[in-house]
Amino acid sequence: MAKSDYYGTLGVRRDATPEEIKKAYRRLARELHPDVNPDPETQERFKEITQAYEVLSDPNKRQMYDLGGDPLSSAGAGGFGAGFQFSDIMDAFFGSAGAARGPRSRARRGRNATIRVELDLKESAFGTTRELVVDTAVLCEVCQGAGGAPGTHPDTCDICHGRGEVSQVTRSFLGNVMTSRPCPQCGGYGTIIRHPCQECSGDGRVRTRRTIKVRIPAGVEDGTHIQLAGEGEVGPGGGPPGDLFLEIVEKPHEIFERRGDDLHCTVQIPMTAAALGTILTVETLDGAEEIDVRPSTQSGQVIPLYGRGVQRLNESGRGDLLIHVNVETPAKLDPQQEELLRELAKLRGEERPPGKFAPGQQGFFSRLRDAFNGR
Ligand SMILES: [Zn+2]
Ligand SMILES: [Zn+2]
Repeated sequence: MAKSDYYGTLGVRRDATPEEIKKAYRRLARELHPDVNPDPETQERFKEITQAYEVLSDPNKRQMYDLGGDPLSSAGAGGFGAGFQFSDIMDAFFGSAGAARGPRSRARRGRNATIRVELDLKESAFGTTRELVVDTAVLCEVCQGAGGAPGTHPDTCDICHGRGEVSQVTRSFLGNVMTSRPCPQCGGYGTIIRHPCQECSGDGRVRTRRTIKVRIPAGVEDGTHIQLAGEGEVGPGGGPPGDLFLEIVEKPHEIFERRGDDLHCTVQIPMTAAALGTILTVETLDGAEEIDVRPSTQSGQVIPLYGRGVQRLNESGRGDLLIHVNVETPAKLDPQQEELLRELAKLRGEERPPGKFAPGQQGFFSRLRDAFNGR
């Protein structure tokens, strides 16, 4: 079977953006919808553009198609595939453009919801799995979203005869003007539910508390939003569900300060250890680790532990752990210690040291530069 030209069918270029593809589909779908244009040839065209849209609106299927495959035939069945986004069809016909004809559908897309998830540093650095309890709306089991009591059917509205709108002719100085407006009796649905489902009061969905298990990827940070498509509440009338967003809140850590993927901490070491060098044991996210403090280490010096920071989100590799050294001046000297230090000062000719400035004020300027770079 010859492969269909999906781009040609929708009349878009091969490099069209998802937005352009959606727009092209909507325009054609309004024109060719079977309710508007019932002849068989138009219906065939409608099926074609819908198939083309099904492939090109899905990044995976589009890629497969671009590489020469036919994602619809490999899926086995023709026509509407399982992955097709119902809401896009709904949008196309009942969307904001207001060009809808015929009765409105009771089915509408459910709302999105956002819940906050608090993580500690280790969880955001390495990722975690959480069970979340969400208050949401699910499809009513009794009426399956239809809204009517079991065994009953909605009646066709006797005011608009199922059209969902009523027309009125008014005389004006321009002549007769016909206006249409949604039917006041049925609210534009074309049907009336005389016996609403007891379970959901005709809404087609019920409120409930649901537990979902979500995998939070490594590397998220305070303010990251994770979109869980289709995990929001179900829409009225059995409409498709909205999306659920997780907003990450990262609890501050008592030792580590996170800047991007890097972690910063400060260790205090005595003056003698800084001068002579030592081995320090420090806590990292991966457990205790020994670091080598070189002889004559200065206060403010940074010892990096590469790859001991936070996992990069959606990438390989980790940030670094940067250990800032703070050299402590000895205090509460006993007479013997004081004597030794005086001796040392004498040997080094430091009894009355000159008030030297630190070279080049680098510290100040690098802090300023960091501030500008938002680090
Ligand atoms: Zn119900
Ligand atoms: Zn009506």
